[in-house]
Amino acid sequence: MTSRLLLAIDQGTSSSRTVVYDDAINVVASAQREFTQIYPQPGWVEHDPEEIWSSVEVVTQEAMQQAGARAADIAGIGITNQRETTLIWERQSGRCIYNAIVWQDRRTAAHCDALKQQGAECKVIERTGLRLDAYFSATKIAWILDNVDGARELAATGKLAFGTIDCFLLWRLSGGRVHATDATNASRTMLFNIHTQAWDEELLELFNIPAALLPEVMDCAADFGTTDDKVLGGAVPVCGIAGDQQAALIGQAGFEYGMTKSTYGTGCFAIANTGDKALESHNQLLTTIASRLNGDVDYGLEGSVFVAGSAMQWLRDELCIIDSAPQSGDIATRTGIVDDVYVVPAFAGLGAPYWDPHARGAIVGLTRGSGRDQIITATLQAVAFQTRDLVDAMADDGIAPSVIRVDGGMVANQWFLQFLADILDITVERPMNVESTVLGAAYLAAYQCGIIRTTDEIAKLWRLDTVFEPSMSADQREMLLSGWAEAVGRVRSTVAGSP
Ligand code: ADP
Repeated sequence: MTSRLLLAIDQGTSSSRTVVYDDAINVVASAQREFTQIYPQPGWVEHDPEEIWSSVEVVTQEAMQQAGARAADIAGIGITNQRETTLIWERQSGRCIYNAIVWQDRRTAAHCDALKQQGAECKVIERTGLRLDAYFSATKIAWILDNVDGARELAATGKLAFGTIDCFLLWRLSGGRVHATDATNASRTMLFNIHTQAWDEELLELFNIPAALLPEVMDCAADFGTTDDKVLGGAVPVCGIAGDQQAALIGQAGFEYGMTKSTYGTGCFAIANTGDKALESHNQLLTTIASRLNGDVDYGLEGSVFVAGSAMQWLRDELCIIDSAPQSGDIATRTGIVDDVYVVPAFAGLGAPYWDPHARGAIVGLTRGSGRDQIITATLQAVAFQTRDLVDAMADDGIAPSVIRVDGGMVANQWFLQFLADILDITVERPMNVESTVLGAAYLAAYQCGIIRTTDEIAKLWRLDTVFEPSMSADQREMLLSGWAEAVGRVRSTVAGSP
């Protein structure tokens, strides 16, 4: 066999996965493993970097074994990853000086608030497209430097390296030879100027982070070096990297201006491709780098909803009114659209476009006739209403999608997708392969190693499974949307998030 297989590593928040593809981008083998979530204090979330690395090693070896592949059979590796999660390690030993601080971790919220008080947020938004928030890497880096003994001294002398998960995996895969990341991951650190495509010195100063820590920033498809012989038993080129949501947009072939994808897993993440324009949001969406290929940047406008599929887990595990997430589809089908009960699943506050961390969930509009089936259906409907809020915000910012491509575990639910099309009043397309994230990493690797030559070829590989057209009357849609707006109004805190 010549080197015609591709290996895509998807290092996510709850599990690591490796998929082996053939050169027609068909799945040949796949392995997945969950790892430990560490919650040292309320609001803190960490991962053990050694467990992350060993989980990636194990699933990669398993997938290669299943495929009967040796290192020499692999043409290239693509990596996609949970974004923003922060690691710092010693360049000499490769040892991390602290656990990975996960994107969900809120320990630096007070630091962010203090910087906002000083009026720093405008500069951050203007240069990075992000809000000044604890989700992003910058304040997490500063926290590690300030809380690990001796870290600041080591950082100042260039002995430490910072990386998001992609960068850490690349370092380990290359046997400590390559310290690099890609532009999509860099764009989530709150240190990268998305207009100049360079680390921003003023932001480094603002967050008190030495430049010596930072990796080189490359295109998403690039020569990231080769794996060390000891890792996979041979030198395999690493040739694609993108953060998970951007990889999903690539997996959905979202290369054209206006193309939009929405991923429904635990939460919901929507990104619209805005081409070479970095649109500034007036609705608290994020401006980000959607992809960078051959030096050309496509920008994206991104909105996230914290609770999507996890609302089904809440119905299953806390309310105990469904046995499994898929059951929600059967129940909604027999119940039909619910127009009096609204579930607002603001369990962890409200994301875009509200950014209200103090909001909490509610069920409103209950009457004597409301029961389990209405609550289940209304919970599914809430995910569609929240997507509508994101799409409205995008439209108001200047990019109104006419079609939305969906992926993630929840899109197995046909009823949900029809309701989504009805509420968005746009076409919803579900592809055959709904594993867009890992597929995006494979496409990047294929592009760099010449198996795929153009993004048009990627677009041709995209296969439609089902299309959902809006069929609801405008009156009914308006009535439902106004009910939703009223329900959201009831849960919003008086201290809403700042701009
Ligand atoms: P993640 O990658 O965030 O772990 P996945 O893409 O694997 O998530 O999707 C899993 C989520 O999808 C779970 O939260 C689950 O409740 C939800 N889910 C799975 N199947 C269905 C379904 N048929 N209807 C509604 N939700 C579903």
